[in-house]
Amino acid sequence: MSENVALLGLGTMGSGMAANLREAGFSLNVYNRTAAKAQALVDAGAHFASTPAEAATGASVIISMLADDTASREVWLGRNGALEAASRGAVLVESSTVSPAWIAELSSLAEQRGINLLDAPVTGSRMQAEAGQLSFLVGGKDSVLETVMPVLKAMSKEIVHLGSVGSGAKMKLINNFLCGVQVASLAEGLAWIERSGLDRDKALTILKAGAPGSPLLGALSERMVSRNYTVNFLLKLMTKDLLYAQGEAAHYNVDLKTAEVARGLFESAIAEGYENEDMSSVIEPLRNK
Ligand code: NAP
Repeated sequence: MSENVALLGLGTMGSGMAANLREAGFSLNVYNRTAAKAQALVDAGAHFASTPAEAATGASVIISMLADDTASREVWLGRNGALEAASRGAVLVESSTVSPAWIAELSSLAEQRGINLLDAPVTGSRMQAEAGQLSFLVGGKDSVLETVMPVLKAMSKEIVHLGSVGSGAKMKLINNFLCGVQVASLAEGLAWIERSGLDRDKALTILKAGAPGSPLLGALSERMVSRNYTVNFLLKLMTKDLLYAQGEAAHYNVDLKTAEVARGLFESAIAEGYENEDMSSVIEPLRNK
């Protein structure tokens, strides 16, 4: 495959996505603020660009997978940013979980340069990124999505087109609002179980098999029990998602009270030093009380 793709951001998710693009045979430019994280990809044949602009130059599809609005703004619009270097006719794919307001701003700046943008955040975590089994939630024009399908397919099991630009970002925040609240309530429930004198394994078996059971409850209860906080999803990123969800829902006069409370739990964990651990470590401050 001769198409030239750029991927900006080689964190937990971007690294796996980039590896699958290489595996599918795309010619790949990668950029990451911390250059050392690119080594494995360079060994796999990717070209390391020392700036976002260098990565974007000559690429027909430019994907970003960055922490938040601030990181995305920096990489697209900052010094040596990717947008200025993108060719007319290139497609920008913003896959980070960012606010719909930022997507609208970036899309409008891209359009002024004759460049189309898709917002395409993902569901799935580190393992799905590594296995090429993500689900893309896409906002943008149908015809634009068609042109990048082979690129997205190399990283995913499913591509859902939700509507115009911003639809993917909106859907992703609703998804993560429900996830964040469930993780926070699981942490409280498990801390309660542990102090109650109940058999923890039996209690969790009942919850997993019953109405509260979900893939998230199954996976995260195991991590909380084993206190395995190696990162699949950084705790600080879930805090960010809940904050963006609250801001977005407020535009529609929906007050996400449960998100406010859940975010409080994640912020307590940050205050105790867990911001760069997996989000399952949100239980620790409750255990320490
Ligand atoms: P991560 O491991 O923390 O990676 C974040 C990336 O953003 C890194 O490349 C980091 O560069 C870069 N970055 C942060 N601040 C920056 C700045 N100011 N300027 C330039 N680059 C900056 O996060 P991740 O887990 O890969 O997640 C990436 C995005 O996907 C996030 O929006 C997250 O919410 C979303 N997401 C994550 C998961 C998951 O399970 N992990 C699942 C779905 C969606 P450095 O390496 O230099 O720090």
